[in-house]
Amino acid sequence: VELIEAFKNHGKEVILMEAMPRVMANYFDKEITEEAEKVIKEAGVEMHLGETVKKFEGDDRVKRVVTDKGSYEVDMVVMSVGFRPNDELYKDYLETLPNGAIVVDTTMKSSKDDDVYAIGDCATVYSRASEKQEYIALATNAVRMGIVAANNALGKHVEYCGTQGSNAICVFGYNMASTGWSEETAIKKGLKVKSNFFKDAERPEFMPSYEDVLVKIVYEEGTGRLLGAQIASKHNHAEAIHAFSLAIQRGMTVQEFALSDFFFLPHYNKPLSWMTMVAYTAK
Ligand SMILES: Cc1cc2nc3c(=O)[nH]c(=O)nc-3n(C[C@H](O)[C@H](O)[C@H](O)COP(=O)(O)OP(=O)(O)OC[C@H]3O[C@@H](n4cnc5c(N)ncnc54)[C@H](O)[C@@H]3O)c2cc1C
Repeated sequence: VELIEAFKNHGKEVILMEAMPRVMANYFDKEITEEAEKVIKEAGVEMHLGETVKKFEGDDRVKRVVTDKGSYEVDMVVMSVGFRPNDELYKDYLETLPNGAIVVDTTMKSSKDDDVYAIGDCATVYSRASEKQEYIALATNAVRMGIVAANNALGKHVEYCGTQGSNAICVFGYNMASTGWSEETAIKKGLKVKSNFFKDAERPEFMPSYEDVLVKIVYEEGTGRLLGAQIASKHNHAEAIHAFSLAIQRGMTVQEFALSDFFFLPHYNKPLSWMTMVAYTAK
């Protein structure tokens, strides 16, 4: 999705093919991706959602993309269809997840050999949202895991504090960020969750101008423990996701988050801002 913007900015005709019915469906729920799709369409990108690429045709170079719904003439193809650890080196020796990620403890030590530590995209991370080792490959995790592993390998006990998989993206100037599980992912994982979606002006309507912010939270049914959050806005509010990430890391409930101390200044937000209101209005 970042690449379609880069190519469009270079004056290219761009087609986005996506097998899932929504863009960025692993990170954001429908309420948020609908906005992103509008922005992508408005930018003049031809979007084909729910369409699966079957093959490429051409001779010395690709000339045609064939999908389950049609075929398209192209000059160039960029494929971004996921990644997995290259487990050839260790697959018969270390414990791994089915995708080949080395299972580590919170000191980054592998489970089968005290002399093997694993970090980054080839290893699991402890998820605060699911309270399990998961595969969440991000640079933010890789650098923190490296610090933890190096300290432990040298004899200083340091524990990994967990990950929420916080991430952000800017698509044609529209800003989006998420942390923890989306509602769809949480349900796929078999978690019993509730959610709340809230849309509000980012600052009081008496200010000369303002834009909307969309925010959604996902939380555990019964306990109200926060499991995920998503933010989308024209003006950049992506860094507010850090507060939600910390709340998940510390096991906070929706009720606790709603009454947390966040500053107010009309230039930036409302006394009860969208951040707190999404938690406050959660049932
Ligand atoms: C397009 C793209 C955009 C991304 N954007 C973000 C982002 O904005 N934010 C974010 O947090 N994360 C982002 N990521 C993810 C992030 O890049 C990775 O999580 C991170 O680089 C993982 O670090 P790593 O050291 O585990 O692996 P890598 O960075 O992949 O480094 C592993 C290195 O090991 C080398 N190697 C492999 N096998 C061997 C071998 N047998 N012997 C010697 N060397 C070997 C490889 O060549 C490679 O250089 C992005 C990833 C991609 C692909």
